[in-house]
Parts: sequence; structure tokens; C-alpha cells
Amino acid sequence: MSVETLKAQINTVETAFKSSLEKSAGQDGLEALRIQFLGRKGALTDLFKLLGSLPAEEKRLGGQALNQLKNLMNQQFQDRMNDLGESRNEQTFFDFSLPGDVGYVGRIHPISTILREIKSCFTSMGFSVRQGPEVETEYYNFDALNISKGHPARDMQDTLFIDESNEIVLRTHTSPVQVHVMESQAPPVRIIAPGRCYRRDTPDATHSPVFHQVEGLCVDEGVSFADLKGVIQTFAKRMFGSDMKIRFRPSFFPFTEPSAEYDFSCMMCKGKGCRVCSGTGWVEISGAGMVNPAVFKSVGYDPEKYTGYAFGMGVERIAMLVYEVHDIRLFYENDMRFLKQF
Ligand SMILES: [Zn+2]
Repeated sequence: MSVETLKAQINTVETAFKSSLEKSAGQDGLEALRIQFLGRKGALTDLFKLLGSLPAEEKRLGGQALNQLKNLMNQQFQDRMNDLGESRNEQTFFDFSLPGDVGYVGRIHPISTILREIKSCFTSMGFSVRQGPEVETEYYNFDALNISKGHPARDMQDTLFIDESNEIVLRTHTSPVQVHVMESQAPPVRIIAPGRCYRRDTPDATHSPVFHQVEGLCVDEGVSFADLKGVIQTFAKRMFGSDMKIRFRPSFFPFTEPSAEYDFSCMMCKGKGCRVCSGTGWVEISGAGMVNPAVFKSVGYDPEKYTGYAFGMGVERIAMLVYEVHDIRLFYENDMRFLKQF
């Protein structure tokens, strides 16, 4: 055998090796390649065996060519192994079993949820939703609602005046919206006015200086107290279930005549008597009544032609009953342990 024949075989093996190396994939592929070309019974070993059949004077040249091939194959094989190792190391640092960064999924505040349900209930009965300013003049907050100067509701204890002359107030109820609406349109009127109200209350389990009210107003010809009771009854059943009962107790408000407080049968004990209802079986919700003719006069409606009813409710109060929350302050503390429950 001549050294030229050996070199031709070296070229063949080298080409095959490079081509296989290019195609090989992964740890297993490289191991198979190593056995095929560099193993004890591999192609390189076979070539070295041919060295013995060369004429003595050509053995040195043949040996050099074989060693070149051996170095080249080892080098290229090692490079490939290193590449694979690096990518494997990168993967080791990425531990798929680690917990990920989970973003908070927001949710609707319980007060907003109840407010939406209240709105949905009344809009389904034909009421439209109207908003008004939270900063009011004394006139809209009191005078136009037949609450004259000297009435206890105007007392500094209850009201947050924001100017020295006591003419601008943070509204103490959403009733001023009634007046704005009646001033801006002729009857019929059928609205609810939801929103924030402000009073100088010291916070405790049932009082907060900021709270939410929904005020309702219906004005038309021939509107009676029976219509008011029907609307409140429908609301009670829709909010708390079909076995809910309502009752009205005589009361006084300057802007309604006659006036009433209305109660729902206790949703906790179903009227049997429990801690929430102080054993009475009834839970006080808010006030209502037929709109006082004096209010109609102040907005230019003819009290001989039109009658109307108005009612109010505290949104926090409803939310506390629906969710069985016993302290109103929990709604405003933004404690995630509380809010996550809704
Ligand atoms: Zn009860």
C-alpha cells in the first residue's frame, strides 16, 4: 500500500467525519459519532492499522498525516462537546419548577359591586342614573330640600363646610341631585342618584365620615305611596331573595311628607330574631316618603298637578348585610386579607 492510497482514505474518513459531526444532535448523537470515528474499533483506529502495510520509507509521512487527522478530529469533537455543555449549563440555571412571578388579578371592590347591583335593579324598573357635584352650595344641600337654617341637619357637628361663610359644603346626602334634575327638566322624573357623601362623623363600626348613598326620585301625575312600596319591595326581593319582607314606620324628613323609615326582614335569621337585628327580626335600611310640596315649589313644579316619592339608602349598609360584614371601616382600610374574600 502506498502513502498516496492512505492519504486518499484519510480524506474520505475526514469528509465523512465532518459531515456526521454537522448532522449529529445532542449528547447521544455525539457519543455515537465518537464510537464510530474515535473509538477503539473506530475509523481512525482502522486507518492507523494500515500504517503497518506502508513501505518503511513512507511510514513517517503516513504517520504525520494520520496524526494530523487524529488531532483535527479530536479538536472538532471537543469543540462540539463544549458547545453542547454550554447550552446544557444555561438550561441548568433555568429551573422550570420554580414558582413564577404571579401578577395580582384585580377585583371589584365590594362597595362597587353592590352599587352596580343597585343601579342594575333600578334601571331595570325604568329609573335612569344621574350624578351631581360632591361639593354643593348651602342652597342645594339644605334650603331647596326644605331644610331651613337652624335645622339640626345643618349643625356644624354634622356638616363639613369648606368656606368660612358656611355657604359651600361637602354634600351630606345625594338629595341635592334631585333638585338639580328637577330644575333642569319637567316631569315625569324617574332617577336614582348614587354617590359619595360626607359628614362629620367619628368613625366607628357603623359610621364613616365618607360613605355612599343612593337616592331615588319619581315624579309624575298620580304617583302614590303604593308605587313607592312596590319599588322598595321589588328592590328588596331582587337584592336579598324572594322571601324578603318590608315594613314602613312613620318618621320625619323635611323634604318628604308623609315620611317613613323602611326596614327589611332580617336576612340572617329570616325574621326569627338574632344579634344583627337585635332580636326584632327587622333591619333598618333608610328613609323614604312622598316629596314635600315645598320642594316642588322651590324647583317650579306645580304641587297641585304632580306628586312624587323619594327614597334613600346607604350603600355600605346594604353591603354589610349582603356580605355579613360587621364593621364599616373594613371597606376603606384596603387590607388585602379583607378585600380578597370578595
Ligand atoms: Zn336577625
